[in-house]
Formats: sequence, C-alpha cells, structure tokens
Amino acid sequence: MTNNYIAGEWLPAAEARPNINPSNTDDVVGDFAYASVAETERAIAAAHHVFPAWSRSSIQARHDMLKAIGDEIHARKDELGRLLSREEGKTLAEGIGEVARAGQIFQFFAGECLRMTGETLPSVRPSVGVEITREPVGVIGLITPWNFPIAIPAWKIAPALAYGNTVVFKPAELVPGSAHALAEIIVRAGVPAGVFNLVMGRGSVVGEAMLNSSKVSAISFTGSVPTGRKIAQACITTEPMKKLQLEMGGKNPMVVLDDADLTLAVECAVNSAFFSTGQRCTASSRLIVTDGIHDRFVAAMQERMQGLVIDDALKAGTHIGPVVDQSQLEQDLKYISIGQAEGAKLVAGGEILKRETPGFYLAPALLTQVSNEMRVAREEIFGPVAAVIRAKDYDEALELANDTPFGLSSGICTTSLKYASHFKRNAEAGMVMVNLPTAGVDYHVPFGGRKGSSYGPREQGRYAQEFYTTVKTSYTFDGNVPQMHGLNRE
Ligand code: NAD
Repeated sequence: MTNNYIAGEWLPAAEARPNINPSNTDDVVGDFAYASVAETERAIAAAHHVFPAWSRSSIQARHDMLKAIGDEIHARKDELGRLLSREEGKTLAEGIGEVARAGQIFQFFAGECLRMTGETLPSVRPSVGVEITREPVGVIGLITPWNFPIAIPAWKIAPALAYGNTVVFKPAELVPGSAHALAEIIVRAGVPAGVFNLVMGRGSVVGEAMLNSSKVSAISFTGSVPTGRKIAQACITTEPMKKLQLEMGGKNPMVVLDDADLTLAVECAVNSAFFSTGQRCTASSRLIVTDGIHDRFVAAMQERMQGLVIDDALKAGTHIGPVVDQSQLEQDLKYISIGQAEGAKLVAGGEILKRETPGFYLAPALLTQVSNEMRVAREEIFGPVAAVIRAKDYDEALELANDTPFGLSSGICTTSLKYASHFKRNAEAGMVMVNLPTAGVDYHVPFGGRKGSSYGPREQGRYAQEFYTTVKTSYTFDGNVPQMHGLNRE
C-alpha cells in the first residue's frame, strides 16, 4: 500500500507513513505512500498525455467500465465498509452504507455516459444552424477530505471519467486505505493507463503541485473553508486559470417548531448532530427551538443521548464511533470550553470516554442557552457538539437559521404545511430537509450549498455535467454567397 498508481503502474513513493485506527490507536491500518512533487507531476503528465484519446473514447466502453466499478464496489461493500470504519472511525453500518452509495454513484454515472445530450436550434440569422455540445474539460485534479473517504471520491471520479476527463486523485492524509482500495477496483475495471491516477500525500505537496500545474484544467475540492480559499487563490494565478468547484463547511441549522412531533424531532436532531460522530459537512450543529417546545425538547434529547453507545466503530451495537484523531478531539473539547466561557450550559456529554481499546472517544455534547452570536453557533466545529438556540416563534427561528456565513443544509421539524412550505422557499441553503435529518444521501440529485459553503457548479446527479464538461456553440451556414453578405447586418 506504499504505492501510488501513476501512468498505469503501481509505483513506490518517496516516503511512506503509517495510518492509525481511531478506535484503537494500537492498530496500524497500514503504511501508505506520501508522494513528492515530481511524482505528482508525473501523474499529471500521464493524465495530460492520454486526455485526447480518452476524451474521444467509446461511450459504451466508458459505460461498461463505470458499471463494472460500481458493481464491484457494491458487491464488496461489507469488506470495504469494514476498512473504511477501521480507518475513519464511523460505525460499520455507516461505513457499509457509504460504500453502497459509492457503488450506486458509479452505476448512475455509467448511465450518464449515454445521456450526454446537446441542443440543436435555429440561429437568429437565416441559413445558419446552431449546435450546442458538451465536451470534457481536460485533466481534473480531485482533492478530497477524510470524512467520506469512499463516497466523496466516487462522486468526483465517476462523473470526471464518464464525461471524458482524465483524473489525478489526491485523497486526504487520514484515509489512504479507502482511497487505495477504491483505486484498485478502478484499475481492475480496465481504465486505460494515465486516465486515472492515485497520488497520496500531503496537501501542501501533492495538492499544491496540482494547483501549480498548467496541465491541470480544473480542480474539484471538498474540504474546509480555509483550504478552499487558498485553492481558489491558486487557481486564478496559474496560466491558464483553472475551472473550480469547492464544497466546504457548514453550520447547518435544524429548526424545531412548537407543533413538531417531538419524538421525530429528537431523532432528526440526534441523527443530524451526532451520527458519523458529527463529522459531516451537513451535520446540524445549531438546533433552533421555539419557546413552546424548548424545555421538552432539551429533556427528550438528554434522555435519548443517554441511550447512545459510543465505542469501537467495528463493535456490534456501537451507535457512535470515535472522532478521527487527537487534534479533532482537542478541537471539539476546545469549542465546548469556548461555549461554556461564552455563557452556554453543557447539559449532556462533552467528556472523554475510556473504552476497552485506546481511541479518541468523546461523549456527544449538548449545549443550551446558546445565542447565535457565540463562536459555537458561528464556527464549524466538525465534531459531536450541538448548540440549542431558543427562538420565540417561527419568524425568529427562520431569521436565526439564515444568520450564518454558511449555506449548505437547513432543516425544519414541523407538522404545519404552511411553515414547511415557507421554510423551503426562504431557507438560505443548497439543501432543505423537512422532518428529516440534515444530510445529502440521494446520489442522483444535486448536492451543494450557498454562501460560504460552496463555490462553483453543483456536484452529483445530472448537474455534475456543469463542472465536468465545457459547452461549445457551433454555427453552420448552409446558404449561398449573396445571403452571407447580409448575415452580419442588423
Ligand atoms: P481540509 O481542508 O483540511 O483538507 C481537505 C483536502 O485538502 C485534503 O486532501 C488535504 O490534504 C488537502 N489540502 C490541504 N491543504 C492543501 C493545499 N494547500 N493545497 C491543496 N490541497 C490541500 O479538510 P478536512 O479536514 O480533510 O475535511 C473536513 C472539512 O471538509 C470540513 O470543513 C467539512 O465541512 C468539509 N466537507 C465538506 C463537504 C461538502 O460537500 N460541502 C463534504 C465533506 C466535508
């Protein structure tokens, strides 16, 4: 596993580093490659070299490859889910679910290969026809985070290849095993040499080498806002400038109205805030609860949270695994203290837990008496820490929900059609959930946000083509010379 996949070969990297299981720090998942700038450039050169041939390759062949990849991922979801859980720390059920979804994403984009449609329309001028066609963009650099180590790479690699682009994929440092396993499946499906490259390593080395290369036409990035901002700056300073897609953080609100079904609201909140150990960009970290239900909601949350089993991600019966590493654990604890110092009250969890195996276990934390100005309500924590914010009524709840620099996902729990409908139209978010946890599970519809959460075209579903293709407008004249003389006059 110390090899990268570059130009059709598994090649040893300049350096290798161990990767640790967050549920059991005595368990080393493996040693993984840390590539150099030169190795990254080699992968980029290979992807650049084969782009013309791949961009014109048979769409039936592309379809068959993506379908084979999706089918194999799906068939091996238990084994890959186990590896993912061991490496990232989400529970086995969540790991298997994520892998199954990655398989479906490849299967979906296999179908999209056959649906690359354009438009034919008349020109405003006589004897001229217009065609609008979609073409691949070129070499695409894919930079991904650690929290969905198979699904997020899948929703970038699958459309990139489906629409005829070549790929250099750089996974996050914390999850190389999942990336390696995914790459093995892609290679086995017969993707030609150079079309897909796996380059594992540091963002500051591999990532920046991709940003600095004039052979990379576009970057699709998912990760934090500070890294996204750096990437955006780099992409406009290279020659030529790069096409860019950024999916970043969230501070997602879930509004709970007086008329909500309390049991359902608690289930939505617990799922949204704490599952995947709260390490989801779509996690609800702000629970905005109206006066009439506030105290009952908090009491029901406390009771529900007592029943949560926090333990080794691979153990049967675990509801919530560890956080991903020591620095994330410290960040979560730091924010809990910041919240308390700002006047919030910790009413559940928030303490480090000891389990049979040494891991980064944190009891999910619930803070009440939070105001929307506090740092715990404004900054992404990316852990199992939820803040309850009291609102006097629906209008104030909506205002608070939208008062954030982010705009990824927004949810409401209510039995009122009027409020649900108003919220869907007025929530400043890319995805809105009614009586559901904030998440983006469906793989055939767009995923992404607004404001500080996202930049550039949406991911997933048919909308993925906006980023992974570029539009060409062709004009054809089928008249004669005298007609042509009149063409460019008003
Ligand atoms: P991160 O920004 O630290 O790293 C993301 C990736 O960028 C990694 O592969 C990293 O190596 C790379 N990178 C770091 N510095 C770089 C540089 N200078 N140049 C190029 N690449 C560089 O994020 P993370 O900690 O891996 O992931 C957590 C973040 O991801 C959270 O903010 C979360 O909200 C966000 N996220 C967003 C979505 C979404 O779809 N909106 C989905 C999942 C996670």
